[in-house]
Amino acid sequence: MSTFKAPKGTYDLLPPDSASYLAVREAIAAPLRNSGYGYVETPGFENVELFSRGVGESTDIVTKEMYAFTTRGGDRLALRPEGTASVLRAALEANLHKAGNLPVKLWYSGSYYRYERPQKGRYRHFSQVGAEAIGAEDPALDAELIILADQAYRSLGLKEFRILLNSLGDKECRPVYRAALQDFLRGLDLDEETRRRIDINPLRVLDDKRDDVQKQLVGAPMLRDYLCDACKAYHEQVRELLTTEGVAYEDDPKLVRGLDYYTRTTFEFVHDGLGSQSAVGGGGRYDGLSEMIGGPALPSVGWALGVDRTVLALEAEGVTLDLPPATSVFAVPLGEEARRVLFAKVTELRRAGVAADFSYGGKGLKGAMKNANRSGARFTVVAGERDLAEGVVQLKDMESGEQEAVAVESVVDVLKGKLDTQARTAQ
Ligand code: AMP
Repeated sequence: MSTFKAPKGTYDLLPPDSASYLAVREAIAAPLRNSGYGYVETPGFENVELFSRGVGESTDIVTKEMYAFTTRGGDRLALRPEGTASVLRAALEANLHKAGNLPVKLWYSGSYYRYERPQKGRYRHFSQVGAEAIGAEDPALDAELIILADQAYRSLGLKEFRILLNSLGDKECRPVYRAALQDFLRGLDLDEETRRRIDINPLRVLDDKRDDVQKQLVGAPMLRDYLCDACKAYHEQVRELLTTEGVAYEDDPKLVRGLDYYTRTTFEFVHDGLGSQSAVGGGGRYDGLSEMIGGPALPSVGWALGVDRTVLALEAEGVTLDLPPATSVFAVPLGEEARRVLFAKVTELRRAGVAADFSYGGKGLKGAMKNANRSGARFTVVAGERDLAEGVVQLKDMESGEQEAVAVESVVDVLKGKLDTQARTAQ
């Protein structure tokens, strides 16, 4: 062990578990790539203002959880706590919205940082895959994103997740509701901080997890009773499209989510096997965000799914991903001549696309076979001086234990043939 440990609230991804993380990222990205979303990558830090304006001055993410700092040059920056504001900033900066091809559909994958109280499923450094569809107001687009997230989770084998759905209204109806809610909340017995929240962001009070607060919220005015006709019709279309496509959801009139920028459609994916940190992903429409960060009016919708929590959800459901073995062939040379011959064979196998590895460090047969076993390789190729004198190598099937001598010059073809057959029968 070294003197240092991973910082509080973070953890390292190491083999073999790291393979599941990569597979989860890949599984979430696959439906997006297949649906017209292009890959975008933005810096890990941004001007702090982008988040305070974009995510919202009244959110915990900005007021309590942001890693904000001043650089030596005097710039005020922050490690990104979420992806949407950065992606929209990048799209606007590059004028993607002016290319005449709206919506601009983008997907991303990366690390995010929030100074949170760490617990299982809640970290200070975590990983998200996200998607944004910028510049179109169309209920089919909202439905598309929810369907793609559902498809991603299902492709991983997850079953015990639920989709919660709500509409937060728009700039017509939300202010009316907001005022009605504020009136109601001011009559309750709430602590100082919560009372302050009534002024800045009353919808967030509905999200309060404390029992004594929730008890008082019975009878609070509900946004769905205040939705204007346009918002109602829009929401109804999203719901209908999901139903038609066989994607089950639950209406959750209390779902508000922790970011200020949402309008109309909001949704969350929750997993029941995760305890208190049950949200595996979430998103919604953010029609006003572009203007909030100095851009033109660009109605947009997006989501972010948490990779860490998706992996925890897989564990909770006992799903093991069907990952291809990291190594298919392991080469064990005994002696200098064998080292030269087998190193060349391993290189040839790799160039032919076969996952192959080699016993390094001049180990004896016993130690090398241990490595071969650990590698998970289906086949081991062993060669000693006597084998080579006869022009052969020993090919061992690690599953059946069978061993046969194969001519040196044909071993690559024989292995390719065997691995092809194995892949076909596994299907
Ligand atoms: P949010 O941007 O808060 O809606 O988060 C979207 C998703 O990112 C959540 O549903 C989680 O899966 C994941 N996430 C957010 N914060 C954390 C965190 N501190 N640790 C791990 N995952 C997180």
